[in-house]
Amino acid sequence: MPSDDRRPQIVIVGGGFCGAALALHLVRIAERPLAITVIEPAAELGRGIAYAGSDPVHRINIPAARMAVFRDAPDDFHRFAERIGAFASDPEGLQPNGDFYARRRLFGDYVGALLAEAVAARPHIRLAHVQAQAVGWRDGKALLDDGRLIDADALAIATGNPRPALPAAIAALAGDSRVVADPWVENATAFGRDARVLVLGTGLTMADAVATLITRGHRGAITAISRHGLRQRRKRPGPYRPEVDFAALPGDTALALLRSARQAVREAETAGGSWEDVIEALRLQGRAIWQRLRRSTTSSSSRSTEDNSSSAPGMSRGSTARRMCSPSPGAPEGEGRPRPKRSIT
Ligand SMILES: Cc1cc2nc3c(=O)[nH]c(=O)nc-3n(C[C@H](O)[C@H](O)[C@H](O)COP(=O)(O)OP(=O)(O)OC[C@H]3O[C@@H](n4cnc5c(N)ncnc54)[C@H](O)[C@@H]3O)c2cc1C
Repeated sequence: MPSDDRRPQIVIVGGGFCGAALALHLVRIAERPLAITVIEPAAELGRGIAYAGSDPVHRINIPAARMAVFRDAPDDFHRFAERIGAFASDPEGLQPNGDFYARRRLFGDYVGALLAEAVAARPHIRLAHVQAQAVGWRDGKALLDDGRLIDADALAIATGNPRPALPAAIAALAGDSRVVADPWVENATAFGRDARVLVLGTGLTMADAVATLITRGHRGAITAISRHGLRQRRKRPGPYRPEVDFAALPGDTALALLRSARQAVREAETAGGSWEDVIEALRLQGRAIWQRLRRSTTSSSSRSTEDNSSSAPGMSRGSTARRMCSPSPGAPEGEGRPRPKRSIT
């Protein structure tokens, strides 16, 4: 598909959080006419797997005030939730300390709304959503699964992680109607209420699946298994707050960071705290630490959304970029994710 005008054309493959955030930042910063095409099979941009589901018990596992799209307005999502009345309509998400653990779908609503607003305000930018799957790259064009070719001066790949699939050891079970390979398909776990359910894995996806079952009134036994047999623990507020500025310590390698963290754990334990307090401090400083780590380590780890946006305008004709991003840089999943209210046998 040749571009219909001479404006530069940026093609973004994948319109989940990172693809939509990149498009948003491009729309906001581009001063000259620009055409942005997002290739995304889903009907809406900004959702991906994480923020598409409609199950109200699936919540973001960190407070809304830390889900940042804009570096200079880190609490924008929190204010959006308040503005549209989510605190009142979803009081379960609001904690006594004012933190709001939003339903995941709300974050997708937010990103989609930001994008729509930005496009409406910047008529010199043309944003197109092509609902298809990109399957290749040919002569400076993105090849789609329906055979179309999309011209690209620059290509950004924001395809996220692949959808869940059966592990090789049980691949032979594919096709059995009792086996759910991808729990994120809508109503994937709509079994009979008395069904005995075996969940492989005891992490956050298990917690989401079990929360869904319990909310639907499931009565049958649910057994979750994993190699270590451990479940996520609720975050407990530590009595000790390590005041270590990890990004300011000497050394810019992962090994130096590990040594500093171990030292901080020893100090925390001497002061009556625990290793968890140190990990919490590390997590909160994730962005600063990441930016300081030596460049050679950056290819396989996550980058902030802003980093994606700033790299794109500099891409040369036909160039490709692949960076990973997150709305909560430095925040591993686990914190604050609601857990099932019933014990699992
Ligand atoms: C279930 C779940 C819950 C999560 N919960 C949290 C949370 O509570 N807090 C938090 O901070 N993070 C959470 N995360 C992490 C979150 O997914 C990431 O922070 C963020 O969504 C990653 O964005 P992404 O754009 O890289 O990937 P995605 O949002 O997954 O987007 C990738 C997109 O690429 C599209 N795509 C893939 N291949 C192609 C192709 N060939 N052609 C065209 N399009 C393609 C897909 O359709 C998809 O829309 C969660 C993740 C999951 C899976």
